[in-house]
Amino acid sequence: MAEQFHNYIHGEWVPAFSGGRTFTSINPANKDDVIGAFAASDREDVKRAIQAAHAALPQWRALSAPMRGQYLWRAADILQSRAEEVARAMVRENGKTITEARGEVMRGVMLLRYYGTEGLHSVGEVIPSVKPGTLLFTTRQPLGVVSIITPWNFPIAIPLWKIAPALVFGNTVVFKPASLTPHCGVLLTQIFAEAGLPPGVLNLVTGSGSGMGEELVKNPFVRGVSFTGSNTVGREIAAWAANVNVKYQLEMGGKNCTITLPDADLDQAVELTVRGAFGYAGQKCTATSRAIVVGDIVEEFTERVVARTQSLKVGDPNEEDTFVPPVVSQAQRDSIMDNIQMGRMEGGKLLCGGQVLKGGLYDRGFYVQPTVFTNVRADMVLACEEIFGPVLAILPAKDVDEALQLANDCRYGLSASLFTRSVNAVLTYLDRIDVGVVKINGETAGVEPQAPFGGMKDSSSHSREQGRAALEFFTELKTVYVEKS
Ligand code: NDP
Repeated sequence: MAEQFHNYIHGEWVPAFSGGRTFTSINPANKDDVIGAFAASDREDVKRAIQAAHAALPQWRALSAPMRGQYLWRAADILQSRAEEVARAMVRENGKTITEARGEVMRGVMLLRYYGTEGLHSVGEVIPSVKPGTLLFTTRQPLGVVSIITPWNFPIAIPLWKIAPALVFGNTVVFKPASLTPHCGVLLTQIFAEAGLPPGVLNLVTGSGSGMGEELVKNPFVRGVSFTGSNTVGREIAAWAANVNVKYQLEMGGKNCTITLPDADLDQAVELTVRGAFGYAGQKCTATSRAIVVGDIVEEFTERVVARTQSLKVGDPNEEDTFVPPVVSQAQRDSIMDNIQMGRMEGGKLLCGGQVLKGGLYDRGFYVQPTVFTNVRADMVLACEEIFGPVLAILPAKDVDEALQLANDCRYGLSASLFTRSVNAVLTYLDRIDVGVVKINGETAGVEPQAPFGGMKDSSSHSREQGRAALEFFTELKTVYVEKS
């Protein structure tokens, strides 16, 4: 029988309230490997978790921020000491390569340390008053109870870059991880429990988001919601939150591009385009899915991208030299294959890949060949829709102007990278590109935790997370006037 894992409410591990119902999580590289049975929670479990968070709030917010930060430091030490175990658990549950999983765990450690120290930094400003002797300043207070709803693709880093600032700024948390990665959610919660977090400060509810979403947003004790995932769900959350005037933050999709100019270092542009497109099988919101190439280098660029793509090892994510692991689920694989099929029907020219991999270990998991298309027009699915799989579309452009037009002709605006040595081209691009994460001669994927992260247009709710931007979301501003009596 599969190992049983419970919810964590008010400092106790408890089964789902309504009859202890469970659901299972499986290994995308081996669908016969059942990781465990997890609490299939419903609204009643969410209500209990929110009540626990509400009850814990007064004592938690009464601690000083540096004292709250101490818990994060302890959690960082525990995560670091269990790094290999957590990385292997992540590989088993979401199929990420072991190299990327180790990187993600260490990023989690860094996030905990960064926000552990954040409690020592200033939170407001002193403003000169027009009235003599008056002290005028701003300060901040926590929102209160916050719901944190996260996806499966970064099941340690994304929860941490939301939970760590929420806690250090004095909020209490209800955490709902993706149903494809509940074990990672349990491990993270265990680490906070071991760090001695008081009961109710962090609560975990696993189970279907569609059944619990409305309660997580509209329960009267909830004052904030931070979400990462699909556009469809994000918009639903935004509508609920606006309806009850709850503060919300959404990080959603991307359709990120590289732009390569004729003067670029072609080795670098090809390598980083391919890495950005096929790392973690393209399942990152910042993955490269469009390569826009300017001028007559397009043919050479395309040949080299195809050759490099065909050299990537697709296989067991536990092997150190695997670059392209399986995709996360059967449903995700089917959705990627539908998009590939649509790309063909719309006239895209398939240069490599395009198939589900079969035989041997491939039959046990959800493997899709790394796929490159050319002859892609801006109005095709391949150029517009977030496929969230190992699929790259190459689009030619005659000059920088047309390249920027193509780059921006998209509902998303998360990240982009320009490959060039020309300072003039860089300045034009910085001015005109409509994305939140702007790279030059870099990979579209990959961000640092101490810098703000987020997108424009349909990629976010126009908010930012990570770095000091988290202070803006997880606190409310107070303007204080102190006058003599
Ligand atoms: P979802 O948006 O469905 O899931 C993200 C989180 O939201 C999960 O915890 C999910 O729970 C929860 N959720 C689902 N429905 C609701 C709801 N009605 N109310 C509140 N929470 C809800 O993304 P998927 O995992 O299904 O992925 C689908 C697509 O979304 C991908 O193909 C990709 O395009 C995009 N995506 C983007 C990500 C990003 O980093 N920007 C990350 C993941 C996906 P549960 O798992 O229980 O359904």
